[in-house]
Amino acid sequence: MRQLARCALLIVLLLTPLSGSRAADRLRVVATTTQAADLARVIGGERLLLTALMGGGVDPHLYKPTESDIAAMNAAQLVIYNGLNLEGQFETVFEALGQRMVRVYALSAPVVRAGFVLEEEVGVPDPHFWFDPRNWALAAEGLAEVLSDLDPTHADFYRANAAAYVAQLEALYEWALAALTDAAIPEAKRVLITSHDAFQYFGDAFSWQVRGIQGISTAAEASLSDIQAIAELVAREGIEVIFVESSVSPATIQAVAAAAQARGASVRVGRRELFADAMAAPDAFGGTYLEMIVHNVVTILESFGYAVPPLPEALALQLPEDFNAQ
Ligand SMILES: [Zn+2]
Repeated sequence: MRQLARCALLIVLLLTPLSGSRAADRLRVVATTTQAADLARVIGGERLLLTALMGGGVDPHLYKPTESDIAAMNAAQLVIYNGLNLEGQFETVFEALGQRMVRVYALSAPVVRAGFVLEEEVGVPDPHFWFDPRNWALAAEGLAEVLSDLDPTHADFYRANAAAYVAQLEALYEWALAALTDAAIPEAKRVLITSHDAFQYFGDAFSWQVRGIQGISTAAEASLSDIQAIAELVAREGIEVIFVESSVSPATIQAVAAAAQARGASVRVGRRELFADAMAAPDAFGGTYLEMIVHNVVTILESFGYAVPPLPEALALQLPEDFNAQ
C-alpha cells in the first residue's frame, strides 16, 4: 500500500512540468500590431503562447485579418490591440469575438482614461498614442493588470515585468527629450515632416512641430494639393530634411521633395526611413519598441546633422554599426 502511494506520487511529479510553462497552461494571446506583440513579449514572456498577426512594415490602418488570423483569435483567451480605430478593418471581428467570450483588450484604454489622447480634429482621436513613451508605460501597466486578472497565480511576475519596463521607458523618454531639445537645435528648426500624421504624440512629447502629408489614416491618398501645400511650407521655412515612413509608400514624400526643390528649396530625404505604424522585423534593429524609438530619434538627429548623446545604460542597447552615433 505504502509502495503504491509512493509510486502514485512519483507519477504525479513526473507529470508536473518543472518550469510551469508547457503549452497547455500558458495563456493563448493574439496581438494585432508589431507594438502590441512586443509589449506582450515584454510583460508576459514565456507565460504566453503568443500569436502576432501583423509583420514588420505592415500598415495597420489597411490590414485586413486573414482566415488564419480569425481562427487564432477565435481560439485565444485574450486579443490585444491598439484601439482608437488604428485597426480599421477589425471592427466586425472584434464584435464577434466579444460574443464568443474571448477577452478583447485595447492597449489605449488607460491612456484614454488618463485623458492623454490627442485629437486629429474635434471628436476624432489620433490612434498613434504609443509614440509618447509615457503613454506606452501606461499601456504596459494596463496589460500587466489584464494578464494578472486572467492568470492570478502569476500576477507578481507580470507586475514585476511591467515595473522593470516602465523604468526603461522613463530612461528612454529622458534621453530622447534631452537629445531632441538640445540647445544646439534652434527651436525654429524643430520641425518633423513625414508621410502621414503618425507623429503628433512624438512631437508633443519631445517639443517638435509635426506635419504629415496624409491625415491620421493612410486609407485616403495624399492629394496633389496636400503635396503642394507641404512643398510650399518646406520652401518657405527652409526645412532641410523630410522623412519617409516604413509602412507608407515613399512616393508622396519624394513628390514633396521634388516640388520643394522646384521652388528653390534645398531639402533632402532623411537618411533612413522612420518607423511609424509598424516596427522592424523582430530580429532587426527597430524590432522592439525601445529600439524603434531609439532608431527614430537617432535617424532624425543624424539626418539633420545633430549630435547623438550616448544611450542610457538602463536600455541595454547597442546601436548598429551603420549608425554614426557614439
Ligand atoms: Zn497611422
